[in-house]
Amino acid sequence: MTLPAQQPPTRVLVTGGAGFIGSHYVRTLLGPTGPDHVAVTVLDRLTYAGNRANLAPVADHPALAFVHGDIRDADLVDHLAADHDDVVHFAAESHVDRSITGAAEFVRTNVLGTQVLLDAALRHRVRTFVHISTDEVYGSIPAGSWTESEPLAPNSPYAASKASADLLALAYHRTHGLDVRVTRCSNNYGPYQYPEKVIPLFTTRLLTGGAVPLYGDGSHVRDWLHVDDHVRAVEAVRLRGRAGEVYNIGGGTELTNRELTALLLEACGADWSHVTHVEDRKGHDRRYSVDWTKIRDELDYRPGTDFTKGLAETVAWYRQNRDWWGPLLPGTRVVAAR
Ligand code: NAD
Repeated sequence: MTLPAQQPPTRVLVTGGAGFIGSHYVRTLLGPTGPDHVAVTVLDRLTYAGNRANLAPVADHPALAFVHGDIRDADLVDHLAADHDDVVHFAAESHVDRSITGAAEFVRTNVLGTQVLLDAALRHRVRTFVHISTDEVYGSIPAGSWTESEPLAPNSPYAASKASADLLALAYHRTHGLDVRVTRCSNNYGPYQYPEKVIPLFTTRLLTGGAVPLYGDGSHVRDWLHVDDHVRAVEAVRLRGRAGEVYNIGGGTELTNRELTALLLEACGADWSHVTHVEDRKGHDRRYSVDWTKIRDELDYRPGTDFTKGLAETVAWYRQNRDWWGPLLPGTRVVAAR
């Protein structure tokens, strides 16, 4: 009797897999709820935001390979694309404030890096290329929510670089027929987030008795998405999404920065005397809000994490993992929100 031949695993190249969201995606793919037959290669440059410790829970997994390298390295990327079925592209410069003080690295990594990856994916006819974009590409919306057909109107250099990459990715689908799928998500939160974005910055500062900077009048509104929900949505798009399509991914909890600050103060046992009001960020978008009906109806995605519970667990994680963030604090900026 001949046994059926074992199917080779799906080989997934995850760029930026040592960052906050990318590492969560990798830990999920290789964890108990991940797909059965998958091999993951992380390509990460390990910038200030990348950290091998984010992959510690799966570091010994036999299906994980780590490549320390740059998405702009055309030879390296070409070689990797040849050996992979799918690409899930998280790697980026991701902090708006840094893009305001210096946009060059954002253009180099987010735009040129994406183009290098797309070219390699095309040359080797990668099966699926999931490009992780952001709700910030739409600009700012005073009321209502953007659907995927909204024209892009980014305001910050970060958002403009992401919009450029997002449009390039879609162009590779329209021009070359490459199976590109784009996701645009709202503000993520959860464990392992580098302490420069608002939730981990405020949490780590408050846990060490410090002060936190609140931009302007604190009335800017963000929709919060737990990173668990985000990676579940990304995986649904990789497995069941359609080529050339854009999927908004929302979290379902809109809060002003002031409301968020109040919740974090309470969770950390601090009061408003720890809050310093600072001058507003230049060009600060007032509100982001995505309509995620499409991914709900097509791919059965719904955010599943209750925000109160998710925030409490996130703060608890930072309380318990000072070894992870303590060494990172000297490198963080004073400014906060994404
Ligand atoms: P992050 O800053 O935590 O991680 C980025 C990772 O990319 C790091 O590991 C870094 O080392 C790596 N990287 C940067 N430049 C690289 C290069 N040239 N070559 C290879 N690796 C490189 O970012 P994140 O918060 O995990 O965001 C991941 C993706 O999701 C980004 O594309 C970001 O634009 C997008 N996004 C994030 C959020 C959010 O709330 N964090 C919201 C919407 C969209």
